[in-house]
Amino acid sequence: MLNMRVVAIPTEIANAVRETLRAPGYGFPAHAELASDEAPCRHCLRLIAAGTEKRILFTYDRFAGVEKLPQPGPVYIHAENCPRYAAGAGFPDELRGSPRTLEAYAIGRKLIAQEYVADGKFEPAIEQLFARPDVDYIQVHSTTAGCFTFRIER
Ligand SMILES: [Zn+2]
Repeated sequence: MLNMRVVAIPTEIANAVRETLRAPGYGFPAHAELASDEAPCRHCLRLIAAGTEKRILFTYDRFAGVEKLPQPGPVYIHAENCPRYAAGAGFPDELRGSPRTLEAYAIGRKLIAQEYVADGKFEPAIEQLFARPDVDYIQVHSTTAGCFTFRIER
């Protein structure tokens, strides 16, 4: 089995956003609304159900915790508490159905390679990227929307 850790946004971040309705580190207002389309929650890595679940949109530095240089962008989380995705649970099954881009970085925010996966088979691409010794981590994005989804570490 592929050895990888799935790193969702930290629970402290999700809870702080829910409490303050402000973006962590930036203070920009966050926006809470009923989900109008399906987008993944960056904390539990499940789809937020359109029409029934509430979501919060906020600005998040996708390199927080790994790099000094930031790159903020919009992300969603469930407005209600949800369990953080378990790091050892493998690629999130609910996110296989939409095209995702894997960006392989070396520390220093150096983009080494990227792979577009549209058929839900992420593991071979991840394995291939991690086979390169210069790759330190992988950022996963929505290919169609461009938004950060989660990080993968060895
Ligand atoms: Zn969630």
